[in-house]
Amino acid sequence: MTSEKPYVPAGASAVLEDTVVEARMPWSGRVARGEHLVLVDLEGQQAIDFLCFNADDPEERYHAPNTIKLQGNIYLGRGSVLWSVRARKMMTVVEDTCGGHDTIFGCCSFELDDVRYGARNPRACQQNFEAELARHGLGPTAVVPNINFFMRVPVETDGSAAIDDGWSKPGDHVDLRAEMDVLVVISNCPEALNPATGAAGPTPIRAIRYLP
Ligand SMILES: [Zn+2]
Repeated sequence: MTSEKPYVPAGASAVLEDTVVEARMPWSGRVARGEHLVLVDLEGQQAIDFLCFNADDPEERYHAPNTIKLQGNIYLGRGSVLWSVRARKMMTVVEDTCGGHDTIFGCCSFELDDVRYGARNPRACQQNFEAELARHGLGPTAVVPNINFFMRVPVETDGSAAIDDGWSKPGDHVDLRAEMDVLVVISNCPEALNPATGAAGPTPIRAIRYLP
């Protein structure tokens, strides 16, 4: 578990939270405007399914099509802005050691895996999201097309697309700056039936919230 750069810049004034999210489990937290959230792929090739909401008005939420249209690219990386359904900036990716993060493939669910694999994992992102959102008074319809950090979905010129082996190495991370007060809800993906979690299967990640 090495990283060429520290997860939190040397000049940061305070680390507000530093949590290891165990394999297959969800996490959520409020990130105030100006604070940063770092997500670390501790062992590599671990998809992190990610949703965010205006903390004070959760009907305003991350919107994949606005994000894709306004940056003109389906992948997220350093400099990408996460745009809301009301076309306002929610978060900015200020650091990224991996690149190519997915915006289009959404999350896994028990029902989807029944159809595509005829098998289930012990947990699934849809169900993780629903359980975590319920803690904040939000229902299942709040699970909208999400970001998959550290998941690789190449799209060919004929439009064909599929999950491929992730690029992330142990310790790769993204650093997101909140542009408004946001509620972030993530599922540390439990999917072991495709390459979303690499050959090793689901592994822990780390969530660090800090003040610059
Ligand atoms: Zn998943």
